[in-house]
Amino acid sequence: MDLYFINKPNLDRLVKSLSKTYKIFAPVKSDNKRFYRKTGEDGLGDSVIGEIRAVEPIKSFYFPARTKIAEYFSKDNSSEKEKPIAIIGAKSCDLVSFKVMDYVYAREPFRDPFYVSKRETGLIISSDCTCYGDTCFCVAIDIMPYPAEGFDINLSELDSGYVVETGSSKGEKIIKEYFKLFQSAEPYIEKRGSYRKKLKEDLLEHVKKSKIPPKDSIQPAFKGKFDSGLWEEVAKTCVECGACNMICPACHCFILMDQKKEKGFERLRMWDSCLLMSFARVAGGANPRKLLAQRLRNRFDKKFNFFPDTIGKFGCTGCGRCTEACPGKIDIREVLSKLQTS
Ligand code: SF4
Ligand code: SF4
Repeated sequence: MDLYFINKPNLDRLVKSLSKTYKIFAPVKSDNKRFYRKTGEDGLGDSVIGEIRAVEPIKSFYFPARTKIAEYFSKDNSSEKEKPIAIIGAKSCDLVSFKVMDYVYAREPFRDPFYVSKRETGLIISSDCTCYGDTCFCVAIDIMPYPAEGFDINLSELDSGYVVETGSSKGEKIIKEYFKLFQSAEPYIEKRGSYRKKLKEDLLEHVKKSKIPPKDSIQPAFKGKFDSGLWEEVAKTCVECGACNMICPACHCFILMDQKKEKGFERLRMWDSCLLMSFARVAGGANPRKLLAQRLRNRFDKKFNFFPDTIGKFGCTGCGRCTEACPGKIDIREVLSKLQTS
């Protein structure tokens, strides 16, 4: 890990140069939310590097909602080779979600070539959060609002520029190539530390209100509530829309669908949702999770029981997106707190 400093005009120059190699996406703000947009040819424009995570999870770039994985009896020439992607302004909660996504899609012997290729060729320039959203609770599960790993380069926004941290050999290579754009980080390191400390303390204070159980007691608390009425109670307002799955950076299930084209067929891989009735249904119509409460419990089981057992981490990064997206007003923080209290 090496630290440097880059001022805002030089970051623009860097991004402009990188746009010759990469298709660059960075968040822009609209209606007080952040959405990824293609950028880079003219620098960063009105992109927001600090603040909080975007509405879309980072998985959208590596595991898109719809991917053509095969075609039969036709040759669609539209799949020309595209530039690799570079994401600027990804936040810590999204980077942590790669622990789950990489486990599912990049582990031998079942490596998904579409996902792996994007991970290998892509570039991630992440950034520290500079504030928190109402539904954010990363610190409650020991994830900091600034990245610790999983980035090529990380930017910590200060008033006049950014402290730059390298996190991979790809990131180091870029710094080396554009070295004249950077300066010593020495005068800025203390300020970065105090900004990070203040945000962490403020966020800890914010999540206290939610009464989320301590991280290490979440899995045992979930096991203790497996057969309780909690799941039926929570499921009362669920309308089975699947938004919580779609918006989650760590949800990764998919369904295959064949679609007729003018000439031949194409096979699509589309995001799926474990909240939907049809998700676990098998040939013949049998369904091990017929009840909505069972499906809702299954979602928490996977995130707070299966993944801790499997990879030693939650399948949740505390990003709060599912709470924001849920039309049934189901708040994941409340469900976690009820694991201990109800
Ligand atoms: S479960 Fe909700 S809070 Fe956790 S990572 Fe997914 S969307 Fe974010
Ligand atoms: S977003 Fe809310 S209403 Fe929709 S499936 Fe998820 S829990 Fe149910």
